[in-house]
Amino acid sequence: MSANHRVLVDRVACIGAGQCVMHAPDVFDQDLDGVVMIRTTQADGEVWEDVLEAATRCPVQAITLPGA
Ligand code: SF4
Repeated sequence: MSANHRVLVDRVACIGAGQCVMHAPDVFDQDLDGVVMIRTTQADGEVWEDVLEAATRCPVQAITLPGA
């Protein structure tokens, strides 16, 4: 697994469902309104697998993984 996969989020599209935080808490967080915040824009290894799962689970496709 190569390093430095990129992770982007769309805070406008986010509806605060929290699936991303549930599946990849090292990468995603939520602000006081429940809107996604990103802890890091890069991930690899097991964390990257968690990010892939989170992106799949997001109900509004607010998580973008360039090149994935
Ligand atoms: S899973 Fe999607 S909608 Fe839910 S908090 Fe994360 S980015 Fe927002």
